[in-house]
Amino acid sequence: MTAERQGDAFENLLHEERRFPPSEEFAAQAVAQPSLYDEAREQGTEFWARQARELLTWDQDFTQTLDWSDAPFAKWFVGGTVNAAYNALDRHVEAGLGERVAIHFEGEPGDTRTITYAELTREVKKAANAFESLGVQKGDRVAVYLPMIPEAVVTMLACARIGAVHSVVFGGFSADALRSRIDDAEAKLVVTADGTYRRGKPSALKPAVDGALEKEGHTVSHVVVVRRNNEPVTWTEGRDLWWDDVVGGAPDEHMAVAHDAEHPLFILYTSGTTGKPKGILHTTGGYLTQTAFTHRNTFDLRPETDVFWCTADIGWVTGHSYVTYAPLVNGATQLMYEGTPDTPHQGRWWELIEKYRVSILYTAPTAIRTFMKWGRDIPQKYDLSSIRVLGSVGEPINPEAWMWYRDVIGGGKAPIVDTWWQTETGAHMIAPMPGVTATKPGSAQVAVPGIAIDVVDEMGESVPDGAGGYLVIREPWPAMLRGIWGDPQRFKDTYWSRFDDMYFAGDGAKKDADGDIWLLGRVDDVMNISGHRLSTTEIESALVSHPSVAEAAVVGASDETTGEAIVAFVILRGSAKDDDDIVTTLRNHVGTEIGPIAKPRNILVVPELPKTRSGKIMRRLLKDVAEGREVGDATTLSDPTIMQQIAGSLRK
Ligand code: ATP
Ligand code: MG
Repeated sequence: MTAERQGDAFENLLHEERRFPPSEEFAAQAVAQPSLYDEAREQGTEFWARQARELLTWDQDFTQTLDWSDAPFAKWFVGGTVNAAYNALDRHVEAGLGERVAIHFEGEPGDTRTITYAELTREVKKAANAFESLGVQKGDRVAVYLPMIPEAVVTMLACARIGAVHSVVFGGFSADALRSRIDDAEAKLVVTADGTYRRGKPSALKPAVDGALEKEGHTVSHVVVVRRNNEPVTWTEGRDLWWDDVVGGAPDEHMAVAHDAEHPLFILYTSGTTGKPKGILHTTGGYLTQTAFTHRNTFDLRPETDVFWCTADIGWVTGHSYVTYAPLVNGATQLMYEGTPDTPHQGRWWELIEKYRVSILYTAPTAIRTFMKWGRDIPQKYDLSSIRVLGSVGEPINPEAWMWYRDVIGGGKAPIVDTWWQTETGAHMIAPMPGVTATKPGSAQVAVPGIAIDVVDEMGESVPDGAGGYLVIREPWPAMLRGIWGDPQRFKDTYWSRFDDMYFAGDGAKKDADGDIWLLGRVDDVMNISGHRLSTTEIESALVSHPSVAEAAVVGASDETTGEAIVAFVILRGSAKDDDDIVTTLRNHVGTEIGPIAKPRNILVVPELPKTRSGKIMRRLLKDVAEGREVGDATTLSDPTIMQQIAGSLRK
């Protein structure tokens, strides 16, 4: 890169002119008003002190808002004590809201449960008593390996109530992955289920726990097993206990002791899109404040009337922050669904929205693109008129997917909030406010009030509007990770060493002419084509904007002439023909959409794309294919056979 181009770390290619301001009616009644931004600007960290006192019930008030003297190790709300479970449960019951529905649960086979705040509170108290009777104490770690059933939320909150630290491991992970996480956290208890239902069939979980604990030398003394699918399980006497026995028989009174604001709440291992999983540590007061704040303001939440549905599994941070904690702390009613979107038919989600009158839907671009592929006639068969706000998370959302989401699911009027954040950030960091921001398809746009986001160049200098660079966070924030479990040095090296005094997120971003932020994908995925730094996200979005393309993934492969060359993998829509013409058509389409420099060298039509279990495209595996190398570690793929399918489709 030449010196004069240093300010522009990535080239800024895609142009998007569409704007969608909120309706006057929505804006007038919105929870978040424009003044929220002014208050945040004027008040500095005191803004968060106010939010913390407004949104949470503290046992003992804090004396200092932020202690940053040992940076990058932050302490928020110093001296305050608070109990997460009390805030999510008891206080609502005490306020007379015990009969409000906390969770509408729908199992994949169609079984349902309606759980009120009073009932959920009782369940959590029983589970807290049960775990304590098994020797779990404040500070102990509990591994949670459960499907999307209410017991998952109950277990997490019971841990929080005691002050035990939960480590949820996604139910799709293998015995080995579970064991390494149990070992890293030295978990004392594992809570699991016999299994769950997946695509109409029982699917087992307990065997993975048995496998994980087969080799001696672990720290686990008990395994509590929820009965869910009634499949036979093998049993280790003395170690294994049925949930119904230990929790079912436990007393339903339990005093919640308040914990220090900085008491560890949970460890969550990142999904491993980029390498060895890291145990991200979150603590109590700051995490609860920012998750509750963003849940209320980003989604325009009205707890009395809304039905909120976040489709994320509790195995991911989205499931922690926007299923277990924020909705309950805010006293909201939510839907929890156990299964897959296509069981027993491809309209299941829309059927659920119609049935429960879901008003706020929060999901991932990968799901939206899948629904696009299945066709708009499926959702159009259902009454989706209850929807008033739509959220997106996990990956950049391509403008075409954004438009489809708005038109087909949002009835052409529900505002879309594209929320950028990470396991590490704990809560939303960049997101439009639905009643304030004129939204732009494909952009997360603006920092959450009270959050200091910037885009900087190689030298750490803020880039001007219109330029691209590295996404950073300039000031500590309440829900920030407090470290990597057991590895303070890795915490500093990973996030705080690239730039002085700034958190480096690992993502590329650009500022448009209005100063709005566009996420460009991971910095590791940025390509260098004849000296031009191009983002995978923009080229993928250009491909997806062609009517023949359902999904696209772009990688850079080494090339003798250009240094790197663009290689695109595309999935065609049902009606599109896979022939030589389509490749030429798509190359030219990218050329017109963003410019000749962005034309892929190769476009390969494939049946599927490799994705992590949270639905993110694993570009590093595609890069191996593009460069003709042996394909690297694919163990965290949702479907391990996909790389063979891709190889097969390329040979034909
Ligand atoms: P690992 O860090 O182990 O590789 P991961 O980064 O996939 O895993 P998460 O913390 O779940 O784990 O994901 C955060 C990342 O997801 C962000 O850094 C960003 O790359 C991407 N992301 C999340 N939300 C958005 C969004 N709204 N727009 C663009 N990218 C997003
Ligand atoms: Mg990450």
